[in-house]
Amino acid sequence: DPGLYIVATPIGNLGDLSPRAADILSRADLLAVEDSRVTAGLLRHIGVKRPMQPYHDHNADQVRPALLARLATEAVALVSDAGTPLISDPGYKLVRDARAAGHMVVTIPGPCAAVAALTLAGLPTDRFLFMGFLPAKEKARADAVAEVATVRATLVLYESGPRLSACLSALATGLGDREAAVTREITKRFEEAVTGTLSALAARYENAPPKGEIVIVVAPPGDPAPASMEDADAALAEALTRLP
Ligand code: SAM
Repeated sequence: DPGLYIVATPIGNLGDLSPRAADILSRADLLAVEDSRVTAGLLRHIGVKRPMQPYHDHNADQVRPALLARLATEAVALVSDAGTPLISDPGYKLVRDARAAGHMVVTIPGPCAAVAALTLAGLPTDRFLFMGFLPAKEKARADAVAEVATVRATLVLYESGPRLSACLSALATGLGDREAAVTREITKRFEEAVTGTLSALAARYENAPPKGEIVIVVAPPGDPAPASMEDADAALAEALTRLP
């Protein structure tokens, strides 16, 4: 059926391509892709060839009108290089405009590094804040961290190896020395999750920037210190009632 199909693709292990994703990729009239060479590799894996139109941060505004026009009569699949489109990847304006124009929008969910990292970190998952990539510049990064210092949620961030240690230090400075996990190469051969305090992790990677793709997961703030003596007394009294 004509419309926009948001198709998640593997973040490393090609076995994670869902049968439904493979089906849409082989039948779509057009694939809107971040990088045609990357998607061509995936298509080769499933043995199909489809027409591709690059759709990335630098050309999205120019090519979106033409893509939207085709949605009326054609099935267009949006694919990122890896993982779920729109998650630190282009696509939300295409979804917004497609829906506004009355076209069908369908999602084919699948791998997403942020969610996969949460499943490896062993930190609370009931509330989390996805922060994407922090700014590269020191001041902007510190500001971005300060903004979330009181948010009572696990934080999830994307980062690159060369910047990992500096990023962990900025997090330790801005948030306090919380527990965290550095997850790397998820679903690939050297998948790992290294846990520790932010400062210990920053020290570990300072002179040994890791290779590969990385997601940082940071624990939520601990219980806040009681604001006043009355609060402390109340907290103590309450705690005593729970002793056996
Ligand atoms: N849309 C993608 C998703 O659903 O995860 C994310 C795209 S973002 C441009 C790329 C970043 O995701 C990488 O720099 C890295 O931080 C993270 N990432 C992607 N694949 C990963 C993997 N296999 N292991 C760890 N992190 C990964």
